[in-house]
Amino acid sequence: MNIDLKIGDIILGGRFKNHRMEAKDFGTDELGQPTVNGRKLLTVRIEKAMPIDQQSRKTREKLMKKEAVLKELSRAVGRMKKTAGSPSDAYYCPKCDYTNNSGGICPKCGAKMVKR
Ligand SMILES: [Zn+2]
Repeated sequence: MNIDLKIGDIILGGRFKNHRMEAKDFGTDELGQPTVNGRKLLTVRIEKAMPIDQQSRKTREKLMKKEAVLKELSRAVGRMKKTAGSPSDAYYCPKCDYTNNSGGICPKCGAKMVKR
């Protein structure tokens, strides 16, 4: 959603929304919320604009769960990488990590293969 509001437009603010003023300055407050002339523009908060530690507990819990899943996933990938090359591949390329059993020159980058 985009709000059609430009510098110079007339806005009505104050408690009864009848105080006429000109929009002079757009910004955001300390919670990331849009402001006009230094004042809150919305009567609700846009959570995604807020600092994470100020967001709702439910959202932060969801985010932490997501992070935990990602961490576990990267750990699993790390374990897979560790077991993938060995024990059949006795040589590895120090430059690009290509592995084979015969050694010699790395077909991918031309470096000399090294024995594990
Ligand atoms: Zn290589």
